[in-house]
Amino acid sequence: MLQPSVAERIKVVGLDVDGVMTDAGVYIGAGPQGPIELKRFNIQDSIGIKLLQAAGIKVVVVSGRFSEATELRARELGIDEVFQDQAAQKLPAFQQMLDRAGAAWDEAAFVGDDLPDIPLLKRVGLPVTVQNAVPEVREVAAYVTSKAGGFGAVREFAEVLLKARGEWDEAVHWYLSERDESMGEESHADQ
Ligand SMILES: [Mg+2]
Repeated sequence: MLQPSVAERIKVVGLDVDGVMTDAGVYIGAGPQGPIELKRFNIQDSIGIKLLQAAGIKVVVVSGRFSEATELRARELGIDEVFQDQAAQKLPAFQQMLDRAGAAWDEAAFVGDDLPDIPLLKRVGLPVTVQNAVPEVREVAAYVTSKAGGFGAVREFAEVLLKARGEWDEAVHWYLSERDESMGEESHADQ
């Protein structure tokens, strides 16, 4: 359970990619245009992200590995900002994202699974990790999802956060009513 007083303060949710939005696996191969890298994302996570956004929470992505798959996925999800840095300098990037959102560190949650996430997790108001996290990350997390990254961990966190804020039922109702109203219109996969 999350404390409502902590949950209600959150304005920004930051997500790591590998091991949080995915199972940390990457598929690497050779295509006609050169190397290709594929990742496997979770569709239940995407609805969780949409519900967070509908509740007025800014969702951003911070990755320590550059990948076009991440860019494509973030765009598809309407994620406000994506930071990818090979050197995994996540702290200054997240600080800038918070500044742009007008949010303080204690108004942010971050979900991470591995060592590059620890500096961020130590600063945010709500540090979260996933079932597959390394022990050092578990030690600094205030909440550990029962699901693993790539297997609905982000969806689970979205639900836990919105329930602690008393906003879950309203978010689900909004989601379903939007779909009722769009009956007959072209349906979009993964929405
Ligand atoms: Mg990771």
